[in-house]
Amino acid sequence: MTKLDVRQDVKALNDLKAAENHGVFDTTGVLVIDMMGSPGAGKTTLLENILPALSAQLKAAVIEGDLATENDALRISKTGVQAIQINTGGGCHLDAGMIALELSKLELDKLDLLIIENVGNLVCPASFALGEDIRMVVLSLAEGDDKPEKYPVAFLHADVAVITKTDLAPYVDADTEKMKRSISSINPDTLIFEASKHGKQYDVKGLVDFLVRRVEEKRSK
Ligand code: MG
Ligand code: ZN
Repeated sequence: MTKLDVRQDVKALNDLKAAENHGVFDTTGVLVIDMMGSPGAGKTTLLENILPALSAQLKAAVIEGDLATENDALRISKTGVQAIQINTGGGCHLDAGMIALELSKLELDKLDLLIIENVGNLVCPASFALGEDIRMVVLSLAEGDDKPEKYPVAFLHADVAVITKTDLAPYVDADTEKMKRSISSINPDTLIFEASKHGKQYDVKGLVDFLVRRVEEKRSK
């Protein structure tokens, strides 16, 4: 068997498991987000900032994927939202089997929204479906406005892209509009949101409203 065959088998097996997860999510009516992005893109910070507003309107839970440490799950727990930490022990992405193992810890029937923060990595998480409804890529303006072109696979099937740290525009050599055009050139259907700090306030209203709407749509199915 060649190396490529083995890799395709691993992927096919993951796709099967992801389809099983998706069935469970549909039966229980919970909307599931796979949140991807480089280390330091601001994924956990984004969650800390949207969860209080989301929790006022629905019941959410978070699965945190990291190579090591419980740091991010602890940060999320402080918002009052249930957070489960998966440590991959060096593995650079989550897979559908890892998610399946955690589902018994969640009361899926009572949940509206499950956000899975993938391991910080803009390459292979995009190739491993988890059973999600929405694929979200988080990227910070500081990473450079050509990031989408350099990592097109991550953006090709992204339903949503969130550009964080746009308030750093005066200090970095990157342009928010250029980054948006770069995302749209890879997938014109990707919805783009900005998350930035205006003064001390973190601006995420558009994203929160979108998620609440999608939860309502899934609930009414
Ligand atoms: Mg994180
Ligand atoms: Zn990987």
